[in-house]
Amino acid sequence: MSQQPVVAFIGAGNMARAIIGGLLENGFAPQNIWAAEPESARLEDLAAQGLNTTTDNTAAVAAADLVVLAVKPQIMQAVAADLAAAAQQHQPLFVSIAAGISLDALERWLGGNAAVVRCMPNTPALVQTGASGLFANARVSDLQRDQATQVMQAVGIALWVQNEAELDAVTAVSGSGPAYYFLMMEAMTAAGVKLGLSEPTARDLTLQTALGAARMASSSDVDAAELRRRVTSPKGTTEQAIKTFQAQGLEAIVEQAMTACRDRAVEMA
Ligand code: NAD
Repeated sequence: MSQQPVVAFIGAGNMARAIIGGLLENGFAPQNIWAAEPESARLEDLAAQGLNTTTDNTAAVAAADLVVLAVKPQIMQAVAADLAAAAQQHQPLFVSIAAGISLDALERWLGGNAAVVRCMPNTPALVQTGASGLFANARVSDLQRDQATQVMQAVGIALWVQNEAELDAVTAVSGSGPAYYFLMMEAMTAAGVKLGLSEPTARDLTLQTALGAARMASSSDVDAAELRRRVTSPKGTTEQAIKTFQAQGLEAIVEQAMTACRDRAVEMA
């Protein structure tokens, strides 16, 4: 990989580790990665992989071109405020993956003139199949945007949105989306059991079907609606199921659920 930025993670928890794993898999040199974390025991395995580790967040910021803020939202203000002096001095790009923290707040806490990207990732990043939405403030250069894309693409797809409010829609689609599919999996497994299958059989068939449908839809050059039409023969079995979903208003339910999710994201920011 050419022109690797030096990337520092503030907080070496689940999300940071997922991204670090993806970067290493994508050929990122461990010596170009820093992990900063107060719990030194959490740094041991990362140090063993050749990463730079520290319990001093400022030292990591001083070394980095790109700083991923990967702490819990509740402590972001305190963590960012402690980094303000280093941010002013070294001027790296900050990428926050914290849910519900606005760019405006991040900029203020980091001392007023930092280049900041707000990113909304999702949990499948933990298995390198994530989907992230990103939005940058005006201080972020084209090179920095490319670097942020490179880092988030290590755990899936990374798409830029046109304004910060769109990140609330990203939350409704991909941020919270995995849970919608989990709910569908629960419902299909339970219905399979009611129709006479054992629970493990119903579950395995459900999960493999979800995986297969997602793989087909992502590798196909036609959209989901066309794929659905192709597997729905007139008067066939699938048609009966689809008609039932539609008669019960599935599309309207999905829209209502995602609107409620978006509204809650707006409320929380
Ligand atoms: P986590 O609790 O696994 O990791 C947070 C880490 O921060 C911990 O290792 C903790 O010891 C460390 N930490 C605590 N205080 C610190 C400090 N002062 N300085 C540096 N590090 C400190 O959390 P996570 O699940 O990795 O989530 C991290 C962020 O990612 C959160 O803001 C969350 O909103 C966001 N996020 C997570 C997911 C997910 O799937 N887990 C999805 C979307 C967004």
